[in-house]
Amino acid sequence: MDLVSDDYCEKCGDSQAMVINMLGTDTKVRKLCDCQKIERDKRIEEEKNRDRQMRLEKLRNNSLMDDEFKKCTFQNFIVDDKNKKMYDLAKRYCNKWPQMKKENVGILFHGKPGRGKTFLTFCIANELLGKGVPLIAMSTLGLLSKIKATYGKWGDAGEVQVINSLKNASLLILDDLGAENSTTWTKEKLYEIIDSRYRNKKPMIVSTNLTLEQLKNKLTTDDGVTRTYDRLIEMCYPLEIKGYSRRIKTAKEKEKIIQSLLS
Ligand SMILES: [Zn+2]
Repeated sequence: MDLVSDDYCEKCGDSQAMVINMLGTDTKVRKLCDCQKIERDKRIEEEKNRDRQMRLEKLRNNSLMDDEFKKCTFQNFIVDDKNKKMYDLAKRYCNKWPQMKKENVGILFHGKPGRGKTFLTFCIANELLGKGVPLIAMSTLGLLSKIKATYGKWGDAGEVQVINSLKNASLLILDDLGAENSTTWTKEKLYEIIDSRYRNKKPMIVSTNLTLEQLKNKLTTDDGVTRTYDRLIEMCYPLEIKGYSRRIKTAKEKEKIIQSLLS
């Protein structure tokens, strides 16, 4: 039995059939020609990409991250001589994530407002989300109001669910710690979350506009217990972000423009 001209693809010229011997009889069976194989591989690849996109989308939704922080990426990061060190460090942290996770290495970024701490922090969040790391990244205020809102809606059960997801995420990123009101309730909730992550050896990345001393005072309970701060410092290595103040930088850029107008 031979292949006939109809068995060949008009497009690529490869055969779309082959003859095999089954129990002593030659039989013609269909097969994919070269261009059909390419088509099939393309479809499989597209399906994989769709699955990947859906997984990432789900991770992103579960991260509770606000839309406004989605644009904080290393690609959008404007590196200058003052922030280069921190930029490199943040990138390396992401590249070495498996090791960081294993050894429970966290970071506490502190420094004056407007130095790019939030941007840097959410760069790490977006980079790791892109690598498929289940994490939660929120402002501390947003997180506390989320717990409160859930409590209002679902009672204890809802609050337990939110707090569990905060406890279980591979990485918890808390932006602007210390901006919250110092109430007994907020101190208790923060302790509960930080202590649980400490005990489960799960890393955190935290940013604050306060000095370490101010943060310590902020987290100290009314009866003078500093355990929340102590746990935090044990988990998160404090790094001061110096950087240019964005306001000063803008002023300097304006100065340049004005100067160019004058000359
Ligand atoms: Zn073909």
